[in-house]
Amino acid sequence: MTHPDIYSDIKNLAPQIAYFSMEIGLRVDIPTYSGGLGVLAGDTIKAAADHELPFVAITLLYREGYFKQHLSEKGEQSEEPVRWNPDDLLIELDQITITVEIGSSQIALRPWLYIVEGCDGGQVPVFFLDSDLPENSPQERHLTAQLYGGDRRYRLSQEIILGIGGLRLLSALKIRNILNFHLNEGHAALLTLELLKRYQRDIEETWDPDQVWDFERVRNHCVFTTHTPVPAGHDRFDYQLVEELLGDYIPLSVLKRFAGHHDLNLTTLALNLCRHTNAVSKCHRDVSTLMFPDHHIKAVTNGVHSTSWTNAEFQNLYDHYLPGWRRDNFLLRNAIAIPDDELFAAHQSAKQRLLHHIKEKTGTILDPEILTIGFARRATPYKRATLLFSQPDRLRHITQYYGPLQLVLAGKAHPHDEPGKQLIKDIFRTREQLSDLIKIVYLENYDMELGKLITGGVDLWLNTPTRPLEASGTSGMKAAHNGVPNFSILDGWWIEGWIEGKTGWAIGPPPTGPQVDHESNLLDADDLHEKLEKEIIPIYYNKRPIWIEIMRQAISFNASFFNTYRMLMEYYMNVYSFDPPTRVALGIRENRH
Ligand SMILES: *Cc1c(COP(=O)(O)O)cnc(C)c1O
Repeated sequence: MTHPDIYSDIKNLAPQIAYFSMEIGLRVDIPTYSGGLGVLAGDTIKAAADHELPFVAITLLYREGYFKQHLSEKGEQSEEPVRWNPDDLLIELDQITITVEIGSSQIALRPWLYIVEGCDGGQVPVFFLDSDLPENSPQERHLTAQLYGGDRRYRLSQEIILGIGGLRLLSALKIRNILNFHLNEGHAALLTLELLKRYQRDIEETWDPDQVWDFERVRNHCVFTTHTPVPAGHDRFDYQLVEELLGDYIPLSVLKRFAGHHDLNLTTLALNLCRHTNAVSKCHRDVSTLMFPDHHIKAVTNGVHSTSWTNAEFQNLYDHYLPGWRRDNFLLRNAIAIPDDELFAAHQSAKQRLLHHIKEKTGTILDPEILTIGFARRATPYKRATLLFSQPDRLRHITQYYGPLQLVLAGKAHPHDEPGKQLIKDIFRTREQLSDLIKIVYLENYDMELGKLITGGVDLWLNTPTRPLEASGTSGMKAAHNGVPNFSILDGWWIEGWIEGKTGWAIGPPPTGPQVDHESNLLDADDLHEKLEKEIIPIYYNKRPIWIEIMRQAISFNASFFNTYRMLMEYYMNVYSFDPPTRVALGIRENRH
């Protein structure tokens, strides 16, 4: 793309919040995201643009994306790089090069810019850092190529680029008035070290080596969102590797004090050097509090960007019945007044679109009159994609005697997640076993576009994670925006959104504590089948007006609340805001405007 005069524009935006995220999913053709974390980041940025909030966002330019998924006849996953040309969509800021030191090398980095436009002309700049420059060695050029690729060294290098490089980029752009650095997950935590160095006091000023580091000032400017209770989601590195890559960037003694004694734990670093930490649902807050008992953790339950995740049919309905809903998502509560026939017709039209796509891609013809259950998630054991197939004979019995079902699934396994890959193969095997009675479709390459098509085109959205490992989940919120009720384990956001028989249905009991509930497979599967038999299938086929009422309530009670408009308001009130002493310490004047 050509190069407009963006510098003055960005200065005019005067960002106060710098949002750092290892992955950002803004649109399907910018494949710099893998799943929920990136989509949430993208949705947050879009909401900030809608409301003209002073945001700037930073991530990396993954030229190979996450990966493109192929599945063989037997469900064996293979991966290939995503082909895309950043030049088509982003602006390369070729006058700007910044450097970070990794080991003994100076890595040159170039920012690329994408401007997110809000519904009323607001703009949020998003910067993608790229190491693919001629001044770097071939290995260094590859450092920003893959999201979640490579080994520990590769990951730590990327986190140096994001945290330290990202902060240097803001300086190079002369963006100076950032009040809050928002660490979206611990990946960006190294930015706190760059801030520590920036705020370092002269030894002549203090005469106390301990006082040289102004931890309080760093803490006052940083906030942290933790996204998962799964241990693998919290990055840790051997200090040996840290010393190799960071050298004497910051004294090891200082690092160990804040980032852990045994290894460098980015979550620990973020918890210690941010003034606020929040989890992504109330249940996740309680679990995180037990994981990190020395820290006060708040809850800001996730949301989705309503306009992005509402399909064309429902957008038309809302434009007609709820004018203004794109900016003020709270208006979605008035969906309660949308007439039955229009609501159901909109849904059937979206369902036909999904079924058409399935026919094109797989040759399988699904029936628009059959209750269609959707399930799309990362294929990894704790998401329990196979719970629904754990009693195939019972599923047969249900379809024969209560009413027919058909299933639409999708999801990628991380390239190194062998148990996750096995799950997909297991599902393919079950599909064969049940093929005489139940049509099961597994769509390849789950991405934002497919996510929108499936969440808006099925009749019921299923989620079966192992309690309490689903921190929030957001795909169920997308379903609710399209009048699709949830049928889910009580975990994450669903504990807050669930009203039994009104917005959807629960599977099994709520979590009882932070311990992982490995024993519940049988009980949860029983409850799942029981509810399908006794409630869901009979209502869908025999009490259509009640079904439509539940669809409508999913919009009114779930979509009107689980959106990024409400979420960002909570961030402003509970996370980004400063208490009076901090305002004084930071020299923030009361009436800034
Ligand atoms: C929304 C979305 C997710 C997150 O959904 P979960 O409910 O957390 O599983 C993941 N991947 C894609 C492509 C999405 O659109």
